[in-house]
Amino acid sequence: AFIVFEGIDGSGKSTQVERLSERFTAAGIRHTCHREPTDGPVGQLLRRALAKDIPLDELTLALLFAADRSEHALIIQKELAAGKTVLCDRHLLSSLAYNAPALDGQWVHAINTPIRERIRPDITFLFDLPAEEALTRISARGDAPEHYEKGEVLQQVRARYLHWSEALKDPLLKIDASLPIDEQTDLLCVHLKEVFHY
Ligand code: C5P
Repeated sequence: AFIVFEGIDGSGKSTQVERLSERFTAAGIRHTCHREPTDGPVGQLLRRALAKDIPLDELTLALLFAADRSEHALIIQKELAAGKTVLCDRHLLSSLAYNAPALDGQWVHAINTPIRERIRPDITFLFDLPAEEALTRISARGDAPEHYEKGEVLQQVRARYLHWSEALKDPLLKIDASLPIDEQTDLLCVHLKEVFHY
């Protein structure tokens, strides 16, 4: 299965990718962990642009995110065909939530349509948390706050996540990201067992 983890900065999705991966390893489930932007050529360019090393326009960024995802889809397709489970930190929903404020969400969706014909998440876990709580976590972990979105922006990103998670109509489970870490991992495992027989 292709399993996607989504949520605002500080929602804890990356931790959940690690936790689920540990449980898969313990259970002998063959899997790989991925993230978007990827570590491929377009993804690296995007990370430099997000760190403000290279100034790029919103429209350019949205096109690059789609380009990165297009390359990524080919890699994911191969891994799925080889019988592996793929865990992915961020995917299309991130583009709709983050890159669509200045741009039309429908357009962002449209440029990603050919990619959706290559791969679609079998399940997306959306880690939902109020923006204020996410900001408290980001400052508590003291990790370069300038790399993350600010409060008001994050609130809008969360709202777009909630909107698009319904509009896309992909299989999705919303997780209360304020629950204890292990309890959240348990919820993922229960769902994967019930729906996908993991
Ligand atoms: O996944 P990660 O936590 O590294 O993402 C950090 C930042 O990347 C986010 O705060 C967001 O500004 C940006 N991002 C984006 N559009 C995406 C994915 C990430 O703007 N599609």
